[in-house]
Amino acid sequence: MKRDNVAFRLLQEEQTRQKNSLNLVASENYVSGQVLLALGSVFTNKYSEGYPRNRYYGGNEVVDKVENLARERALKLFKLNPAHWHVNVQPYSGSPANAEVYSALVPLGEKIMGLELTMGGHLSHGHKVSITSKAWKVAQYAVDKKTHRLDYETILRLARREKPKLIIAGYTAYPRVINFKKFNEIAQSVGAFVMVDMSHFAGLVAGRVYPSPFPYADVVTTTTHKTLRGPRGAMIFAKKELARKIDRAVFPGFQGGPHNHQTLAIAVALHEALQPSFVSYAKRVKNNAVVLALELKKRGWEIITGGTDSHVLLVNVSANGVGGYQAETMLEEANIVVNKNTIPYDERPPSDPSGIRLGTPAVTTRGMRVREMKLIADLIDRALKGESAKSVRRNVLELVKKFPIP
Ligand SMILES: *Cc1c(COP(=O)(O)O)cnc(C)c1O
Repeated sequence: MKRDNVAFRLLQEEQTRQKNSLNLVASENYVSGQVLLALGSVFTNKYSEGYPRNRYYGGNEVVDKVENLARERALKLFKLNPAHWHVNVQPYSGSPANAEVYSALVPLGEKIMGLELTMGGHLSHGHKVSITSKAWKVAQYAVDKKTHRLDYETILRLARREKPKLIIAGYTAYPRVINFKKFNEIAQSVGAFVMVDMSHFAGLVAGRVYPSPFPYADVVTTTTHKTLRGPRGAMIFAKKELARKIDRAVFPGFQGGPHNHQTLAIAVALHEALQPSFVSYAKRVKNNAVVLALELKKRGWEIITGGTDSHVLLVNVSANGVGGYQAETMLEEANIVVNKNTIPYDERPPSDPSGIRLGTPAVTTRGMRVREMKLIADLIDRALKGESAKSVRRNVLELVKKFPIP
């Protein structure tokens, strides 16, 4: 067949865009060539509803090996004993994975409890526009008004009053470490499950620069495409006694055939994360974020909670008279990609909030280190203080040229 020039020109266009921009989106990363190879493979041709050795289609002997390989590597990466922990690698992505957990463990109409979206929580943690708030009742906690950090006393009080069946910890825009032990105590005291959604920081847990939630959780969900640096996808880890319920909620409860090309790519990414070099990557991601926060602070920008313990930071740009939407746009014109984000107790609307969210996983994959974080802080500072986008962009292009996408 003739080459589809229209479609492949778009592929080229996107490759160029990625190459030429400084990507500070905290939830993005660049996968390796091997992960891409797995994603673009013939496994996309295969139907395999069910689980290894228990499928609704023939021809799955190789797919079974792939799924088992991904499972083994997932448990190994997080040092989990297969006698106590189970993992499901079939969820299409993070949002379905979370809904699958609720449907496995919380009867419809009963209550889940998560952090409010505007405070750093995720849509799938019970936000009002999400199906998760229609199928289940929801209680939402907030961060402390002054410190913008989790306040475990308030969370405990809310849990006692609301009596949720499941409590969610793990967020999209919370820069600090989470005390999982506290969540475990709170959940125990009201008879709820603890679910940790480590989508954002899974790679940091794997690299041992962020506390592991596993000693204190009943279920852990994660996307595979953020700090973990794999393909788009998700995994659900569950204590062994919950395994059957979780598996049945994923298939046939929510999903049909698993995306086997995605499963192969997850296996490849997990292998990469098992290498010693991934530990140094995770360390650099965190150190880069700490430095970027510090350098922005030095230039007069307000960082929510004063800094970060992870890969992500929130800048209150409105404190310097720039709106979040405006900041995102100004930066994009200079080829710096970020996302506008609400800050806790934001007085501006989510469409034009007070903050921007920055993250270091992608630039760290390109090989950038402390020296570059200072440069990046400068570039952001110049763009937001009104220097022409063209002149900032020239320096951005000089920088990214030296750090090709692997
Ligand atoms: C990214 C994210 C998700 C959702 O992932 P999708 O793959 O986009 O559905 C869920 N929870 C948290 C905390 C996330 O950061």
